[in-house]
Amino acid sequence: MTALKSAIEANLEGVRERIHASCLRAGRRTDEITLIAVSKTFPAESIRAAYEAGLREFGENRVQERESKSAALTDLGVTWHLIGHLQSNKARRAAQLFSRIDSVDGAALVSKLDSAAAEFGKRLPVLIEVNLGGEAAKSGVTPEQLDALADHIAPLAHLELRGLMSVPPFFEDPERVRPYFAKLRALRDNLAARRNIPLPALSMGMSHDFEVAIEEGATEIRVGSAIFGARARESCDRLL
Ligand SMILES: *Cc1c(COP(=O)(O)O)cnc(C)c1O
Repeated sequence: MTALKSAIEANLEGVRERIHASCLRAGRRTDEITLIAVSKTFPAESIRAAYEAGLREFGENRVQERESKSAALTDLGVTWHLIGHLQSNKARRAAQLFSRIDSVDGAALVSKLDSAAAEFGKRLPVLIEVNLGGEAAKSGVTPEQLDALADHIAPLAHLELRGLMSVPPFFEDPERVRPYFAKLRALRDNLAARRNIPLPALSMGMSHDFEVAIEEGATEIRVGSAIFGARARESCDRLL
């Protein structure tokens, strides 16, 4: 086994133990939690090693980066999530390269995604990203804009709204993020009830705070550094 593969396997083991422990605390089953491996800034060989360790869901935050790694990974049966801000002019390429867009945050963007999905003959699942902390540098709709964007998506034949995603403000102490996770869950529950549609996906929690997210109802967690190691250069999203 290569050093890369054994390092990723050991990291993954640690992540799985943490998922297990938080599920025990929350009275949930571990199979209720989907682990999305966030592979941004890591090369295709890291993704392949994680795949061999059993992971099947991967997240990238930029269309171009996903594109640059795609040729080396075409043989892998992987679900790709776009988790970073998407500009409308890249919607077509994103609809082609990704299985789900988790960071939808505007009416113009959803229209473009719908046309692109139609062109590729697919029904594209999407999540709406909510900016819970009102942070100017982060993307996502405000809680007040959520309904209007859901209204835009509802009639589109080639998009399917599956739930909500958020990157709350960063706190050293994960307990301080708990109210934000609880808020996202309440927004999801209210939206689902008002529209009488299932919104099963609640994507929240990252390497340092996913236990709290699981306790607050996350159905998917997005984990990068705890699986792949520290990132050499931070992504644009985090630099901002
Ligand atoms: C980078 C990133 C993650 C993963 O962050 P880690 O702290 O490395 O686990 C999760 N979600 C989004 C949107 C990201 O950009």
